[in-house]
Amino acid sequence: MNKEGKLIVISGPSGAGKGTVLGELLDSHEEFVCSVSATTRAPRPGDVDGVNYFFISKEDFVSQIEQNGFLEYAVYNNNFYGTPRKFVEEKLASGKNVILEIEVQGALQIKKLFPGAIFIFITPESFEVLSQRLRSRGTESEEVVEKRLAIAKKEAPNALLYDYIIVNRQGEIKKAAEEIYACVLAENLKPLANRDVIATYFE
Ligand code: 5GP
Repeated sequence: MNKEGKLIVISGPSGAGKGTVLGELLDSHEEFVCSVSATTRAPRPGDVDGVNYFFISKEDFVSQIEQNGFLEYAVYNNNFYGTPRKFVEEKLASGKNVILEIEVQGALQIKKLFPGAIFIFITPESFEVLSQRLRSRGTESEEVVEKRLAIAKKEAPNALLYDYIIVNRQGEIKKAAEEIYACVLAENLKPLANRDVIATYFE
């Protein structure tokens, strides 16, 4: 039987480079998978249905809530976002480590359901670097950038609720990805994760 995989919750401000770091981790460690969330927000240029999100209507979202289809869900910026339950449960049971890239309200729901999950907050080295990164992407208007920065400022104290903070420094994506891997290694060495080994002393 496969040992159950770990659930890993990743949060952090828009512009922290979460997607790039996770891409690096998935490329180098095949035992990790990312859950694809459902959302009622409209796709942005470049978003692919089924890859970035499952883009669904509000009616479908509410019907999936009623059928207990989500592990967690939250309203963020007037849109619903939720983690499909079935995919996560199946992958964990098959021994994969499953990554959820979600915001803090959802993370708190997961903390109640999965006390053994690992909570990681990813951030650039400073608020100033975050501002520079969002502006240099040049993909959003100054108004949108200002809005994202205001949200980042408001949400920063939530980082203290997480188990680990990973600083994604410019040009050090590989290092940040390996630090996620190291967090999972460390969790797997904790006594509670190895009760079965200790139990053999009393058989
Ligand atoms: P965006 O619209 O920029 O893609 O995402 C907005 C926020 O929603 C981000 O903080 C993202 O991590 C979060 N998010 C994405 N999927 C989920 C989900 O399934 N559940 C929750 N609670 N948050 C999510």
